[in-house]
Amino acid sequence: MFYVSTRGYDEGQRFCDILLEGLAPDGGLYLPQTYPAVSEEQLEKWRRIFHSEGYAALAFEILSLYIDDIPADDLRKLCFKTYTKDVFGSSLIVPLRAYPDNIFVLALSNGPTLAFKDMAMQLLGNLFEYELARRHQTLNILGATSGDTGSAAEYAMKGKKGIQVFMTSPRGRMSKFQQAQMFSLSDPNIHNIAIEGVFDDCQDLVKQVSNDLSFKRKYQIGTVNSINWARLLAQVVYYFSGYFQATQTSKQKVSFTVPSGNFGNVCAGHVARMMGLPIHNLIVATNENDVLDEFFRTGTYKARSGENTFETSSPSMDISKASNFERFIFDLLKHDAKTVKHLFAEELVKTSKFSLSNHPLFVDAKAQFGFLSGKSTHEDRLKTIRHVNETMGELIDPHTADGLKVALEHHSPDIPMLVLETALPIKFAETIHEAIGIEPKCPEAFSELQSLPQFVSVMPADITSLKNFISSYVDGDSLS
Ligand SMILES: *Cc1c(COP(=O)(O)O)cnc(C)c1O
Repeated sequence: MFYVSTRGYDEGQRFCDILLEGLAPDGGLYLPQTYPAVSEEQLEKWRRIFHSEGYAALAFEILSLYIDDIPADDLRKLCFKTYTKDVFGSSLIVPLRAYPDNIFVLALSNGPTLAFKDMAMQLLGNLFEYELARRHQTLNILGATSGDTGSAAEYAMKGKKGIQVFMTSPRGRMSKFQQAQMFSLSDPNIHNIAIEGVFDDCQDLVKQVSNDLSFKRKYQIGTVNSINWARLLAQVVYYFSGYFQATQTSKQKVSFTVPSGNFGNVCAGHVARMMGLPIHNLIVATNENDVLDEFFRTGTYKARSGENTFETSSPSMDISKASNFERFIFDLLKHDAKTVKHLFAEELVKTSKFSLSNHPLFVDAKAQFGFLSGKSTHEDRLKTIRHVNETMGELIDPHTADGLKVALEHHSPDIPMLVLETALPIKFAETIHEAIGIEPKCPEAFSELQSLPQFVSVMPADITSLKNFISSYVDGDSLS
């Protein structure tokens, strides 16, 4: 399997090359040259494997279609090491809960940091450690987070040999629980950096450092942001698992609603659908930062500036540019890398927007790719949290509430609707309190967390400061 960049770079890269690389040298994102097609027969075989051998075995089946430069036995071991009951709280790994009217919630958030990002990050940690050892290399992971990515990355990488993590986050914009989760880590290979700015400032800094090829090479900079193909690939697996749990035969269709920010999670659903998973609709749910909803409704993609990005009560979706979106546009435009490059590297940079409204391929996009979208506001999410609590005695987090709100707008009861649960409510206790007047119970394993000492460095949104910080640790390290 070879991988190509959305902007045209095509040098026969294989999985392990792009695993450690992140962005392609031309600034594009990697995708497989083609998506392996999965027949109905294959689906039925995977259904049996999932039910008899479990999630890890299913993960191995899917990953091995995309990864041919790790021996099969090793890859299988990595999958079974990653997806365990111990780490994810149940032997199903991502159990499905039924709500009334053929609505389901796919529980993706029972990993160590209580958000769906553990699903991919835990695998990434093991893949990185494996590949770095094989290459006798070290890696310095530079990331940007509005909360969940950072903690998931840190919990996946802490203590791993040959890896340091430099994680930027927008100062004061994470929930107390998220801050405590990240900043309380005292492992010497984990560095928390609070940037004076919003999430997109952090993301821009990461991109700028990654675009400085000589710095990137000298300091072996890698990324774990959702642009990393391996993360996306790991997420493809739970769409299949959710499908097998919600259906009896592989002739049935289901829809998914995905609370979306950087378009990473739902892009994995898109990949699953391109492979042949019978997905009717893929519904993109946004919060007030609705650039993706606007695109799917109108064909115009308008990135926001940092100042125009709202700070919302579903903060992990507070983005202005959806970094994975370029992957979908590449598919939409039938791999026309030249146009993708023009849109993302020129138009978007110059005017902060582009429009495909009149493009024949956009007009056809809904039918061809199944995408629908919707938006949820603070009031909507409070109402949805309250409603689920009152009618079913259950608690859902604000992001999942955004998903459920939008799912209901597009739901037809004859097709199962799977809403992805992207975090647990305890991570966003302030908003739960606002919705129902009480705070969610803290799981016992986390009760001490908020009283632990915290470790973080504060920094302006300035690339030189960030580079100096990184080099001081990496160079310092190599001297000792
Ligand atoms: C990261 C995250 C999202 C958004 O996922 P994307 O892959 O960026 O679209 C939604 N909800 C929660 C809780 C998250 O942590």
